[in-house]
Amino acid sequence: MKLFGRLRRRAPEAAGDDATAEDTQPHLVVRAPDIPAGRPGIVVVDLDAVAANWRLLVDAAGQAEVAAAAKADCYGTGMAQVAPALVRAGCRSFFVAVASEGVALRRLAPRAAIAVLTGPDRESVDLFGEHNLRPVLNDAAQVSLWQGWCRGRNKPPLAWLHIDTGMTRLGLMPAAVDSLANHPDRLAGMPFAGILSHLACADDPAHPMNAQQREAFLAARALLEPATGPLRASLANSAGVFLGAAWHFDLVRPGAALYGLAPHSDRPNPMRPVVHAYARIVQVHEVDRPRTVGYGAAWTVPGKRRLAIVAAGYADGYPRAAGEGGPPGYAGDGAAVWIGGHRAPVVGRVSMDLLTVDASGVPAAKLGEGALAELIGPHVGADALGAAAGTIGYEVLARLGARFHRAWRGAGAEIAP
Ligand SMILES: *Cc1c(COP(=O)(O)O)cnc(C)c1O
Repeated sequence: MKLFGRLRRRAPEAAGDDATAEDTQPHLVVRAPDIPAGRPGIVVVDLDAVAANWRLLVDAAGQAEVAAAAKADCYGTGMAQVAPALVRAGCRSFFVAVASEGVALRRLAPRAAIAVLTGPDRESVDLFGEHNLRPVLNDAAQVSLWQGWCRGRNKPPLAWLHIDTGMTRLGLMPAAVDSLANHPDRLAGMPFAGILSHLACADDPAHPMNAQQREAFLAARALLEPATGPLRASLANSAGVFLGAAWHFDLVRPGAALYGLAPHSDRPNPMRPVVHAYARIVQVHEVDRPRTVGYGAAWTVPGKRRLAIVAAGYADGYPRAAGEGGPPGYAGDGAAVWIGGHRAPVVGRVSMDLLTVDASGVPAAKLGEGALAELIGPHVGADALGAAAGTIGYEVLARLGARFHRAWRGAGAEIAP
């Protein structure tokens, strides 16, 4: 099957009704025949865009090495396709959340450095050796477990020491750092990849936490290096890369920006969109008198309207909170899909498998057989959909459901399982 072959890239000038004034990039054009029979929709992941985002981050990171955060199936984009595309683009280091992700990634990237952020426990520690996974050591117990595992072993994987500098999530707290510094024997016999920490507020460059965490990170490194020897250092996620050279250290760990999400909420997004999601339009209603729409009868048709029923709901990852004009306190325009280049706002509550949109602005001719609604794509960013649902683009991407057909396009990949 070569379904992707129909996913053409068209220049915006040639895209006719699909083009808008804001279009600056050629974009994917998805059509109903791209979706296998019986599937409600399709997610297309643009591997060329992943590679372009990789290059932009490499430029922004200056001297620092760029590693890719590949956890949660590369943020829902498909690790089996996206990780090899990143390797082809030049990526040599990955971070995943759990050891099973590391085992899966090892098959895709045989020579890469793969670090596992949650580190080892007694049950999983052997996997680190078997698959050459680098443990991130987050507390004294993991340090001790890993030290014991390394004893008598030839060339164990390098370990990262994770310092908590303000997330209060994973990582060695200040007392644990002091204790290790005072007992250098507890760090002996282990080769280290380096020291890392994670920024809480990097998406807000003016936030004082950024400088505070950096200071705490430097202090922890200064305390530990007498015991470990010189340590490579890593602090920045996607947003941290754009904080400037003082945050880059030796290695940066972007995830979101690789997958097209905006590193900052208050500026234009420099990244190229990666994920495109389309769903079939399964019914159209011409309504000319007041009636309610959806569960809770939460929206009443205000007059003559054309409504379209789209085959995607919260089971597909379309956020339920995006219905009814968005969550409490939300000040934007509300969630919308795009049909043939026209905006169609979501009305009423999002159901499990379906959502209703006000397609009054869409010519009837564009709503016939084979019509698709763009849920995420050139007109609707994952970040914007997240905002309209009171969440973030990360959550939208990570939750896109299993009912979508998935296709990957570009970077030489000819994949359409
Ligand atoms: C997820 C994660 C990253 C990547 O963060 P983005 O904001 O997606 O760039 C980096 N470091 C750690 C520890 C993470 O958990």
